[in-house]
Amino acid sequence: MKFNKVLRDIKIYEAGKPIELVVREYGIAPEDVVKLASNENPIGTSPAAAKAIVANASKAHLYPDDSMFELKAALASKFDVKDDNIIIGAGSDQVLEFISRAVLHEDASVLMSAVTFAMYEIYAKQMGAKIYRTASYEHKYDEFMEAYRMYKPEIIYLCTPNNPTGDATSKEDVLKIINAVDNDTVVVVDGAYMEYASAKDEQYAITPNDLLGFENVIYLGTFSKAYGLGGMRVGYGIGQTELINELYKMRPPFNISTLSLAAAIEACKDEDFVAKSIALHQEQIKRYEAFAEAQGFKYIESYTNFITYLFDENMDSTTIFDALLKRGVIIRNLASYGMNAMRITIGTERQNDVFFKHFSEVIA
Ligand code: PMP
Repeated sequence: MKFNKVLRDIKIYEAGKPIELVVREYGIAPEDVVKLASNENPIGTSPAAAKAIVANASKAHLYPDDSMFELKAALASKFDVKDDNIIIGAGSDQVLEFISRAVLHEDASVLMSAVTFAMYEIYAKQMGAKIYRTASYEHKYDEFMEAYRMYKPEIIYLCTPNNPTGDATSKEDVLKIINAVDNDTVVVVDGAYMEYASAKDEQYAITPNDLLGFENVIYLGTFSKAYGLGGMRVGYGIGQTELINELYKMRPPFNISTLSLAAAIEACKDEDFVAKSIALHQEQIKRYEAFAEAQGFKYIESYTNFITYLFDENMDSTTIFDALLKRGVIIRNLASYGMNAMRITIGTERQNDVFFKHFSEVIA
């Protein structure tokens, strides 16, 4: 068989291990497995969204409203933009794919930080584009500008807050980069975890409206994290209409499901749920900071719903990951990102209790 040669250089994206796998492989009861690996919302789904899923179950034979009018209206009102500034994707992942396919080709390149969301690289490689990275995982102006001037990439990815590190870039610094880049380069501002950063410190708060004056900039958001709909796969891109219209050329019809659409419409309006999610997170993440400080290892200050613990040569993230997995605790090992580190989604109080119990025993 002859596959496209670009595939030779692509590593399959490894998602956080599912609960079912730990149940199967280690014989642990499902209720004893704690999954803190995929940055899902630990308190679940907005009750209004869950109700909409049930209410629409009998409409599963119908395609969704392909205009997604109601969801776009809800987002337009939340962000004070127009509905033709918005494109909906099956997760913001799908919007990333639209951007990549709309912009990249074999002579193109992309620029991103040293350690950032793995799908940027995968989508770019699918198009045969070259990947350039800055030296730091943080989004540093000087490093981005030096690489930008050298490579003139077609796309720059600014992931703030950044996954898998958890740090954020201030609005001032993001705007500084955007202002220094000309319109031939598309700048993607990926705000998948923005709700957590905005709630923590307003200098990191970026809204789609802050970027709408730039024709080459697109803001990405998702319902998978603070809005608790990871399993429904709904995300969005917001930018100037001309850019959004180009992305529409890449979109298949009915690209999110009838149930996903119904759920996202309700989740979008349920600000109480988001506030509750963030309040729990802010209270629980303090335990993770205190634990690291008490144990004497470093962590990256987090603006997301997870925390990244950094280990020295006395601790190996892969050994710790394996030992935790056998005990039914799933976290994310960052060895594949070249870091001796692990990323832990902040769970409920009970999930975090279980994590600390097992983690303390593993490192003892
Ligand atoms: N961007 C970032 C930075 C992410 O971490 C993720 C999910 N892990 C996504 C985009 C995609 O999210 P989704 O497709 O669930 O909207």
